[in-house]
Amino acid sequence: MNETHESLRGTVREVCAGFPDEYWRALDENREYPEDFVRAMTDSGLLGALIPEEYGGMGLGLQAACAILEEVNRSGANAGPAHAQMYTMGTLLRHGSKAQKEQYLPKIASGELRLQAFGVTEPEAGTDTTQLTTSAVRDGDEYVVNGRKIYISRVGHSDLMVLLARTTPIEEVEKRSRGLSVFLVDLREAAGDGLAVKRRRVMMNNETNELLFENLRVPASSIIGEESEGLRYIMDGMNAERILIAAECVGDGRFFVERATDRARKREVFGRPIGQNQGIQFPIARSHVSVEAADLMTKKAAALFDADEPCGAEANMAKLLAADASWEAANVAVQTFGGYGFDAEYDVERKFRETRLYQVAPISTNLILSYVAEHVLELPRSF
Ligand SMILES: Cc1cc2nc3c(=O)[nH]c(=O)nc-3n(C[C@H](O)[C@H](O)[C@H](O)COP(=O)(O)OP(=O)(O)OC[C@H]3O[C@@H](n4cnc5c(N)ncnc54)[C@H](O)[C@@H]3O)c2cc1C
Repeated sequence: MNETHESLRGTVREVCAGFPDEYWRALDENREYPEDFVRAMTDSGLLGALIPEEYGGMGLGLQAACAILEEVNRSGANAGPAHAQMYTMGTLLRHGSKAQKEQYLPKIASGELRLQAFGVTEPEAGTDTTQLTTSAVRDGDEYVVNGRKIYISRVGHSDLMVLLARTTPIEEVEKRSRGLSVFLVDLREAAGDGLAVKRRRVMMNNETNELLFENLRVPASSIIGEESEGLRYIMDGMNAERILIAAECVGDGRFFVERATDRARKREVFGRPIGQNQGIQFPIARSHVSVEAADLMTKKAAALFDADEPCGAEANMAKLLAADASWEAANVAVQTFGGYGFDAEYDVERKFRETRLYQVAPISTNLILSYVAEHVLELPRSF
């Protein structure tokens, strides 16, 4: 397994070497999507890592996918524009019908289709997903979708979107987590014909959007799994998502520690390298320790996931530790670079903005802490 990961990591490094800092800097400045990078990741097979071999993918597990995303971010690149294909994949793989898998997976593996969009968050419901109000009402052999979503990423660069919508009104279900269903929406047909997409400009170069559904008609066959069971499927996939994001944060953390260390060795002030001062070297060393610890928890969570063992606690803890470690390392890197840390040419400020997201999305730190308090420590539910 480790050997496979080493060679995988090597392949990722080779692909990323073709997309140096200048490439990402220019995209960041112009808020553009890394088309060429995503194409290269697809052509090398890496984005199809989780797709079974029978459908044209690599047939690898989550530990391998983690190694890929970690290396991407460690290189100075940003896996964000492409990572959703990995973490939404579980919903289709585990709960999709044979017909859906045969229809979509080979094309996703080859890059003919992109599954990069994941529509859950809504303006009113926010973190409380059970309160989402986007509805999908059955009408013959179609569902009619109405509602709004916010901050849905990569819609403009994806052909397919996994969508969570309410199929039974909340007043009519026994538990508020029931009555939600997952659909695989063909964005090429939907955009402009029941779906309006409005771009939101955010802190980092992330194509994210507001979606307005007005009588969007989707075929009944686009439902994934059983009606009403959608939240369970999405929650299932969330462990994978948290572990993969944790791996990206570990990659970010390593990027910051490596860049800060290099700078601390080379930059001379008062006639000696700044890294000779403990005030500079200790925070970098501490960041390194935090990243290594987060990496261990991430690896543990991914191994449990691949072994089909319960991993909710570990996935959440990995996400929290890794997001905190990368954010700590980001701050230390900016401090080590001094004024240059704010300068776009040094790439630290870009990665600083990118890694900040993971304190909030796809799940915020507070919600992880309440998960651990309630489900691990058995404290009373707080909401
Ligand atoms: C760049 C970007 C890309 C995104 N991409 C996607 C995407 O592709 N698909 C998608 O579905 N969503 C996406 N999101 C949305 C993201 O998942 C949400 O923003 C996030 O889950 C938080 O929800 P919210 O913004 O509604 O915050 P709110 O629910 O308004 O929460 C605000 C703050 O209050 C805290 N809070 C809320 N309730 C509690 C509580 N009970 N206890 C303690 N603290 C609490 C939260 O932790 C948070 O810090 C994206 C967001 C961003 C910024």
